[in-house]
Amino acid sequence: MKIICIGRNYLDHVAEMKSSLPDRPLFFMKPETALTRAKMPFFYPGFSQEVHYEAELVIRIGKVGKNIRKKFARNYYDAVATGLDFTARDLQQRCIREGLPWEMAKSFDGSAAVGAFVPFDQLNNPEEITFSLRKNGRVVQQGSSTQMIFGFDDLIAHVSGYVTLKTGDLLFTGTPSGVGPVVPGDLLELYLGHEKNLSISVK
Ligand code: MG
Repeated sequence: MKIICIGRNYLDHVAEMKSSLPDRPLFFMKPETALTRAKMPFFYPGFSQEVHYEAELVIRIGKVGKNIRKKFARNYYDAVATGLDFTARDLQQRCIREGLPWEMAKSFDGSAAVGAFVPFDQLNNPEEITFSLRKNGRVVQQGSSTQMIFGFDDLIAHVSGYVTLKTGDLLFTGTPSGVGPVVPGDLLELYLGHEKNLSISVK
């Protein structure tokens, strides 16, 4: 199982990071050891002074595919959840400055938290999936699949041109604005629509 993550997929987040706007989806990967499963805490890593939360929609691959055409992409994912792409922002900024890969900052143990998957056919409106993150009870991020620069089908088509997608792989689809730091003791609660989907404490 692999975890594929999209960067810079919401205009307001691109603006807050002062990043350049991508002309095609930007992706990177996290290994299986990055997964934080339900009911596990996030353990703050000793190598960073500035870990950020990034709340995202995560889709689950339901079928093996490569070079998938956009018009068939919907057949290749079957469920959605919320997730957190934990990022060691201090290390990432250094990687960006030095032109280095992002793995140190993005792919460490526990850096991919994922909530409970909801099948697409159980969603009220699969065309507009909203989500939000509360940190210690206060809403800090809100987003909708309609705000993504590249939609689910575009992402599947693009990524599968480079990497074969396998059943059970996860695709993090990018974060909206409002990213920020976590500290031990924080409680992060993610909502898919109005339903709580993931709750995780920082240790
Ligand atoms: Mg992200």
